[in-house]
Amino acid sequence: MGKNLEDMMKTLQQIINEIERRENLNKLGPFPQYNREVIEDFKIIKEMISQKKDYDNVPVTYCKTCLSLKVKNIENPNVAYCVDCGNTDLEETHILDWEKLYEAEYGEKFLNTNKDD
Ligand SMILES: [Zn+2]
Repeated sequence: MGKNLEDMMKTLQQIINEIERRENLNKLGPFPQYNREVIEDFKIIKEMISQKKDYDNVPVTYCKTCLSLKVKNIENPNVAYCVDCGNTDLEETHILDWEKLYEAEYGEKFLNTNKDD
């Protein structure tokens, strides 16, 4: 069930819009309304999609503890760790599977543009 390029570009545009929306809202108040870590994850995904041009087949390395994609030293698995929680228990999967894990863990889709909070 491969998405075509058009769908991928749409997803990419949604992510770009969502990053912009959250960053703009965060600038308004004294306290950020949106979790900055999540915005950083969005940016990582945006970069990956931009480079790979294939949303379905993007492999991601994520932290098994907090599901963050912010993994340091990703090129060397022996010393790689999660920037958010420091854990070294990492796993690689496809981005769509990671999204399912994220939804199961946090009760909402990672990319949910219909939500208007
Ligand atoms: Zn983590």
